[in-house]
Amino acid sequence: MTTHQEWKQKAAERSLDGRAFIAGERCGSASSETFATLNPASGKVLVEVAACGEKDVDRAVAAARNAFESGVWSTAAPAHRKAVLLRLAQLIDEHTDELALLEALEAGKPISECLALDIPESAACIRWHAEVTDKRYDALSPSGADVVSMITREPIGVVGAVLPWNFPALMLAWKIGPALSVGNSVIVKPAEQTSLSTLRIADLAFEAGVPAGVFSVVTGSGESAGQALGRHPDVDLVAFTGSTATGKRFLHYSADTNLKRVVLECGGKNPQVILPDVANLDAVAEQAVAAAFWNMGENCSAGSRILVPSSKRAELIEKMQAVLAGWRTGDPLDPDVKLGALIEQKHYEKVLAHIEKAKEQGARVVCGGRAALTETGGWFVEPTIFDQVTPEMAIAREEVFGPVVCFIEYDEVEDAIRIANDTCYGLAASLWTDNVNSAHKIASRIRAGTVTVNCFGEGDLATPFGGFKQSGFGGRDKSVYAHDQYCELKTTWLKLA
Ligand code: NAP
Ligand code: MG
Repeated sequence: MTTHQEWKQKAAERSLDGRAFIAGERCGSASSETFATLNPASGKVLVEVAACGEKDVDRAVAAARNAFESGVWSTAAPAHRKAVLLRLAQLIDEHTDELALLEALEAGKPISECLALDIPESAACIRWHAEVTDKRYDALSPSGADVVSMITREPIGVVGAVLPWNFPALMLAWKIGPALSVGNSVIVKPAEQTSLSTLRIADLAFEAGVPAGVFSVVTGSGESAGQALGRHPDVDLVAFTGSTATGKRFLHYSADTNLKRVVLECGGKNPQVILPDVANLDAVAEQAVAAAFWNMGENCSAGSRILVPSSKRAELIEKMQAVLAGWRTGDPLDPDVKLGALIEQKHYEKVLAHIEKAKEQGARVVCGGRAALTETGGWFVEPTIFDQVTPEMAIAREEVFGPVVCFIEYDEVEDAIRIANDTCYGLAASLWTDNVNSAHKIASRIRAGTVTVNCFGEGDLATPFGGFKQSGFGGRDKSVYAHDQYCELKTTWLKLA
């Protein structure tokens, strides 16, 4: 296994390329402007990245449209698209160390997580969608003997994908896997903080045989490159993952321009509901810690509200603290570290402000509650458990997107269901019970896109992921259902003479 020292050495030796990837090649922005990408664990500049704007987006869209119209990808044999995407998955696997290092450096994520999960899962996701490419059937309608009525799915055309910084490679894979599988051209706008792994995957896609123009990456700010994609008259669909507030802007962009399709995966304030019948709190504690603190809580499906009956509260808190004691905070390049740095200073200050407000509103700090490792210049926050939280407090309602979880006590199970649903979000929820009847009955009453029972998670690649209420709009990521949003449905009605 590569040691901390060796990773630091690799990081020091790496040359980083922050140029955009448009029409099959790396390039600077039309304005020649750049912006700095920082290392969240030190606050130091990693590399300058191309600041793309409207002109660059125009160029990427024109290349995407030309490629689409040429049919080089859009009407290529499905078996060919499959083979190319399988090659891309293979190349991602072969570059796991390099891509994991980029994610750890740029996103502050623990290197061990990037190696074990982010990069292999990204490859697995592309592979999964690649395999579906030549196994999709269309339909004929039951319209009678004198007609052949075909219902077919066609690729929608030019797709913009606007991405967040918390799982840069994985969220990229969730979008490009299905979008490229069905034959679209895709233009990706990564979050400003995390462009590097996306750019390298674009290099690898080109190497794998994705034709020029079919997959471009415009790096830059949301205000500039993101908005230009959202408003572009020749973009047919934008698939977005990020905050609910930004997601809503894309609906405005669409309404104000060409009525492009919009698919949104947004925030969450996800409940973990512990029922009174649960006997083994050790298993709950293990998973509840992962739900709350995995990826520093910078996770849209983070289980940030623990709804617990009074009979279980003290014991579960104690057990979670014991689990958390094994979760070290530190340099993301240290393979023993489970908690890295938060993405940027502004976000770190926001998370600390949430913590201060919770204290002021009367929540009790069980552990954590402060900044950590300030001497590094990085943005570390101690994993924080709050107790005595009531459903009205801000900490129980607002998405923190940091390593903070709150305990809310309930009296009756009906109260737990009401509190679980009392949020504008509906992305994910976890339910803990030893009773299979309660599991089914209560899971069906929780308004969330994914409900896991007796575990935390997001299912697997075969399950759709997305939110109810203000957690999502217009479609789902993952699974065969993700393919629908990247297609138009066409009826061809052929009257027989
Ligand atoms: P964000 O600020 O909404 O940004 C998401 C993307 O939108 C970034 O690429 C961003 O660009 C861009 N953007 C920002 N302002 C824009 C504008 N005015 N017009 C067009 N594009 C714009 O979210 P984030 O801070 O990156 O990520 C955290 C949020 O994402 C959390 O709320 C979390 O819940 C959510 N999230 C949801 C999921 C899910 O699957 N449901 C997954 C991960 C994260 P720049 O930042 O580069 O300016
Ligand atoms: Mg942002």
